[in-house]
Amino acid sequence: MGSWKDMLESQPIISKMVINSIVKNRVSHAYLFQGDKGTGKNMLALLFAKSIFCRKKQNYEPCEQCSDCRRIESGNHPDLHIVQPDGASIKKEQILHLQKEFTYTGLESNKKMYIIRDADKMTANASNRLLKFLEDPNQDTTAILLTENSQAILNTIRSRCQVMSLQPLNPKILEQRLIEEGLTEANARLMSTITQNIQAAIEKSKDTWFAQARKIVVQLIEMLQNNQEEVPLFVHTQWMSHFQDREQLHEGLDLLLIWLRDLVHKHLDDTASIVFIQHINKMEEACMYWSLSDVTTYLQATMEAKRKLEQNVHPQLVMEQLTLQMQR
Ligand SMILES: [Zn+2]
Repeated sequence: MGSWKDMLESQPIISKMVINSIVKNRVSHAYLFQGDKGTGKNMLALLFAKSIFCRKKQNYEPCEQCSDCRRIESGNHPDLHIVQPDGASIKKEQILHLQKEFTYTGLESNKKMYIIRDADKMTANASNRLLKFLEDPNQDTTAILLTENSQAILNTIRSRCQVMSLQPLNPKILEQRLIEEGLTEANARLMSTITQNIQAAIEKSKDTWFAQARKIVVQLIEMLQNNQEEVPLFVHTQWMSHFQDREQLHEGLDLLLIWLRDLVHKHLDDTASIVFIQHINKMEEACMYWSLSDVTTYLQATMEAKRKLEQNVHPQLVMEQLTLQMQR
């Protein structure tokens, strides 16, 4: 359950547009909300519905207490229909059923609304059926189509909708969402740095390969500072056997970049910007070994290593050169 206040924070532009249409009583017949998983399409659609149906709303903010709000939240409102894929797709019968429901006037008001989740998953027949439905709108019907993949929506459908794009989440908000999803603060901080997609972030946080990758990066740094003579063997065995292809190696180097940027923040006493918050003690130590100018040099060397990988230099050679550059 979210409020417009939350929504305005995470999706200011689109929220203002929707609120404006509610306040000015200029709600369109059809909307298409497009945006990545986790950007809040569903929450936006439900809030929209509550603001339309709630009879106790304050200005545009629904009360969340009345029976309209509660039935929308639980998916049982008689004048709000939600269609979602039945198995892999949304089938023609589902749209026909929806259409049939809409031949009756609103049960409790004369307004009706329907939400089609994953609208790109409609079969061709379902899409054509919906198109006919959209071409012949009832007075007080509002359609909200949700999709992560708007390219897969028929142009003829899209052109009948007011298309609105949800923005990728800003890292701070994503981090907060991830904490609400049960991730630790440290995990949430890191995941929101490497992805903008909430689902991808949750999956990555459970990925044992990635957890091991983090450990290896931290070990490499410690070794570069304390046991330089062991670095070549470590790179040869541990590092190369874990980061087996270019894509994995890029991920490893990205983690190294985050760590080095953290050291820059630490040197500048900007603790709030640090990503690896669980390793702040190690960073204090690291700052004694590596000056700010060292860290800057290593950051450039790591970015150069990523470029070499792109140019098909052999991964092991890339790592050997990089770790050599990072030894004083
Ligand atoms: Zn209400």
